[in-house]
Parts: sequence; structure tokens; C-alpha cells
Amino acid sequence: MGVIRDLGEIYLAGNYKRFPVAFVKGQGSRLYDEEGREYLDFCAGIAVCTLGHSPKPLVEAIREQAEKLIHVSNLYWTEPQARVAELLCQNSFAEKVFFCNSGAEAVEAALKLARRYAWKHFGPEKHEFVALERSFHGRTYGALSATGQPVYWQGFEPLVPGFRHVPPNDIEALRAAVSEKTCGVILEPILGEGGVIPLSKEFLEEARRLCDEHRALLIFDEIQVGLGRTGKLFAYQYYGVTPDVMTLAKGIAGGLPLGATVAREEVMAALEPGTHASTFGGNPVACAAARVVLKTLLAPDFLEEVTLKGKALRKGLDALQEEFPEKVKEVRGVGLIQAMELKDEGAKLMNFLFEEKKILATLIHGNILRFTPPLVIAYREIDALIEALREGLKKT
Ligand SMILES: *Cc1c(COP(=O)(O)O)cnc(C)c1O
Repeated sequence: MGVIRDLGEIYLAGNYKRFPVAFVKGQGSRLYDEEGREYLDFCAGIAVCTLGHSPKPLVEAIREQAEKLIHVSNLYWTEPQARVAELLCQNSFAEKVFFCNSGAEAVEAALKLARRYAWKHFGPEKHEFVALERSFHGRTYGALSATGQPVYWQGFEPLVPGFRHVPPNDIEALRAAVSEKTCGVILEPILGEGGVIPLSKEFLEEARRLCDEHRALLIFDEIQVGLGRTGKLFAYQYYGVTPDVMTLAKGIAGGLPLGATVAREEVMAALEPGTHASTFGGNPVACAAARVVLKTLLAPDFLEEVTLKGKALRKGLDALQEEFPEKVKEVRGVGLIQAMELKDEGAKLMNFLFEEKKILATLIHGNILRFTPPLVIAYREIDALIEALREGLKKT
């Protein structure tokens, strides 16, 4: 672990707190460091490596596309971009797609779309957003302003005006916040960075009703929980509540940077030529990768298998909660995004997993362990995680 870390310490911005490891290779749900040590990956690049690390069909599609055409800009049409848009629309409520390169950009596009749509149809007074406390929508100014965690704002204010935040699952607070001035309500159906907090169906239904009543757009940020993680292609399908706009990124291209904002046609029409753009957005290589990801997710039985694996993971975590009621406060999540909230801080357990068991997970808010494995994780790998957690809970 010498040179790579040394170079990084010297030259890279200090904005990340990194684990003391440099990875050089990945295969399936496994990662390998410089010394060839193997790690089991329940992080998956933060819900990005949907199909695991370097799966053959993904690598092949990227190679083929790179050999043919890497970039031309959005001054022209390209097939991979058109095909991915087609797949997204054929398999969701969406009728139009805007491509960008990251989650924050997808959120920015959704926010700009909501304001523009309201401006066009109802005038400039209708420009407020309602978002949730504990939410996370990204680090650029619009997305940061939507993010309901003041810790991320510190030192960066003033934020973009016009955002109100209400507690997740608080229907009364939501009713009080949405008004004729609201142009959009933005929420994650399951709050990811907030600590894996599933919203209730009642709360989502009320959000839908309020948006209809006040002619505001309902925006689902599915950047973390979309693309198969819940066992449905999209989390809104899991809940049965349909938004007007949806943001996607993270897992959409299996590890290449791609973001998308999708909407009904009548809504997306507010983005006329020249109103919004992205140089790299929907570039052919990223879209060739996304096509493989989407086709894999849509193949027969793939998502059913995610549901079953999610149940296996959940069952294991629930058993641990029963075994260690003095340590485990709550287990929650849907499908293959699950979390175990501890009563005390979780750094020791995380360290045990990482150092002793070579298992990767993420620790949020100091005491919540989050598991977002590749969707192709094997049952015996889930068992290995549960066994390691059991040992760790005993020892730490
Ligand atoms: C990660 C995330 C984002 C931001 O994505 P970036 O690609 O890091 O900009 C936005 N919303 C949600 C729900 C996320 O999980």
C-alpha cells in the first residue's frame, strides 16, 4: 500500500476520508488490492457497480463502442444514446430523457425543469420547492439546496433560495409546506445517504395528491434506489406511486459516469432548445454500458432474483438484531439496499469488517451500516457478510 497512497496524499484534494487501501482490480463482487488481497464488496462503488466489477458483456460493449465512436457532442444524434432513452421510456412512466453525467447534474436538470415548467405555465411566482430533512440530492448548489442536511451546507451559504424542508413521513408537515407557490416536491422514495429510510406509501400518495392539487411536479430522486435495487426496475414501481420527473445516475451505466432526468413529454417540453445542456451528457460509451445494464436488469427473472437475495440479506440482518438486541437498534431497507442501525457508534464494527474480514460496506451518520452490494451478489457471499457481522457484534 505504498506508492499509490503516497501520491494521493501529496496531490489529491483532501475532501475524502478514504479507507487505507488502493484497489487495482475487480471481478464480480470481489475487489483486489495492490498486494492481491481479496475483498468482498457490499458497497459496489456506492450502489454504482450494478452488475459487479468488470463483467464481460459490459467490458465488451464498452470496448466495441470505444473502437467505433467515443464522443461527438449533443450537436448530433448517436445510436447508443437514442437506444438507452428508448429502453428507459419503454420501461417506465417516462416519455422523454435528458442525459448528463452524474447524480447532482440529474437533480439540477430536474430542478431547472420544474421551475421552467411552472414559469411557462403559471408564472414566476410559482418557484418554491419542498424537499425532505435528512435527504441527499448532491453537492452542486441547486442539489445542495434541496439536500436536507445542514452539515453539508456549512460554509457554503447562501444557498439557492426557495427550498423548504419537512421531516420524512410527516404527512401534516408536508401538507403545511406545499402551496400554490410550490413548483416541485423532490424526494428519495428511500432516503439513501440519510440512513436508508423508506418513505411510507401513504406519505408518497399524499405527496402525489398535493402535487396534483397544487399543479406542482412530483420529482423522485432514484439515483441510489432506482435501477433494480428494490427488486423493481424503479422504486416508484415498488411503491405504486408515479412521479412526473425522475432522476437516475449511480448504477445506470454499471460504473461509467452517466446521469438521466426523465419525465412525461408535456413536462419535458418546457426545456426548449438552448434552455439546458451538457457537453458529455449521454456520451456513446457510457450509453453503450447503460444499454447492457438495462438489458440485464430486464432479462427474465433478474429482478425477481434481486428480491430473493434482498430477502436473504434482510433475514440475516433481522436474525442479528434478535441475537444482539442490546447492540442493534433497527434493521431497515428494501431489496438490496439494507441498513443496520446500531445503538452505539459503528466505527469499531466497520473496522472489524474491513481489517479482519476484508468486507466493504459504508458507515453513515456514525452508527448506520449500509449494504448496497452488486445486484449479482451470491447467496454464499450474503452468508459470509452475516457471519462476519455476527462475529464482529460479539467482539466489538
Ligand atoms: C449519490 C446521490 C446523488 C448525487 O450523485 P453524484 O453522482 O454524486 O452527483 C444525488 N441523489 C441521491 C439520492 C444520491 O444517492
